[in-house]
Amino acid sequence: MSTALYDVLIIGAGPAGMTAALYCRRKGLRTLLLSKDFGGQANWTTVVENYMGFMEIDGPELMRRFKEQLPGENLVLVEDEAVVFRAEDGLFLVEGKESGSHRGTAAIVATGKRPKKLHVPGEEHLRGKGVSYCSTCDAPLFRDAEVAVVGGGNSGAQATLDLLAVGARNVYLITDLEVTADAALADQIRNHPRVRLYPYSQVTTVHGEQMVSGVTIRSVRSGTEEKLAVEGVFIEIGLEPNSEIFPELQKNQRGEIMVDCHCRTSSAGIFAAGDVTNLPEKQIIVAAGEGAKAAISAWEYVTKTRAKNATAVI
Ligand SMILES: Cc1cc2nc3c(=O)[nH]c(=O)nc-3n(C[C@H](O)[C@H](O)[C@H](O)COP(=O)(O)OP(=O)(O)OC[C@H]3O[C@@H](n4cnc5c(N)ncnc54)[C@H](O)[C@@H]3O)c2cc1C
Repeated sequence: MSTALYDVLIIGAGPAGMTAALYCRRKGLRTLLLSKDFGGQANWTTVVENYMGFMEIDGPELMRRFKEQLPGENLVLVEDEAVVFRAEDGLFLVEGKESGSHRGTAAIVATGKRPKKLHVPGEEHLRGKGVSYCSTCDAPLFRDAEVAVVGGGNSGAQATLDLLAVGARNVYLITDLEVTADAALADQIRNHPRVRLYPYSQVTTVHGEQMVSGVTIRSVRSGTEEKLAVEGVFIEIGLEPNSEIFPELQKNQRGEIMVDCHCRTSSAGIFAAGDVTNLPEKQIIVAAGEGAKAAISAWEYVTKTRAKNATAVI
């Protein structure tokens, strides 16, 4: 079990956390980068066309290059889930599920977002057995299959197009309102011969033992129910922040951690960057930039804390 003391603890290694780690390392800060995976959401996208320096690059390849740039003196990478975070004796402590406790003078939260769940029977049990939250990753598994997509926004429309592109037989697009996707996407699916729209409908159950075999949907207007025989269900109803293990930090109504323009949170010494924050634009380049800012703010905090401690000793 590690009880090492770092200058900075960084939790989350998406674009924000990895950029923060590079900046911290280059400032000579002893840094821990602890994350469930390296790459975050950018690993879920096939083609990125809006990261400067690359006309077009696969999301996972861009993240591989981010990670490649990290190693160096003073930076420790740990692949693990942070399960507890708290202030303790003037320091911060993060507990990894497998790696034990790690302490730091400052902390940067860069835990990003995760897909929202429906919270209906069958969803959890059949996750990875026909239930998916990532059409980029899993659509190719559903060639020639009947598939449901839940969510009428841009993500739902994009998932529908991804499934049509790989040759899904029929796509049932279920949304509790109308289709609200941008016209450029919505127009491609509205009159498509292999798309069946179910507006004002909700999924109430995902059926299946070993694999998904169907979904029950209920009309929000009439309350009538119908069962659709499908082999896959793509849940595309948005994202929510991974901010639960930071109960002390001030958050907005969406659960995003509130930061100022220096990435400072409501708690001195804790900084946050990227999609987990209230920052409006959720993009790789923005998250990376915020990670850089958070690292510079953390460096200033660590430097001041060191100076204060040195004065106290004298
Ligand atoms: C399908 C899709 C396509 C996209 N396409 C584009 C695009 O083309 N261009 C673009 O600019 N943006 C795109 N985005 C948005 C972009 O991916 C995000 O804005 C960006 O990844 C946010 O970076 P982040 O570092 O803040 O968070 P994330 O990328 O969410 O990374 C957070 C990291 O923290 C880790 N983590 C979470 N909780 C814990 C915990 N408790 N303990 C340890 N680790 C934890 C996660 O595993 C992850 O590695 C896309 C997003 C999606 C979902």
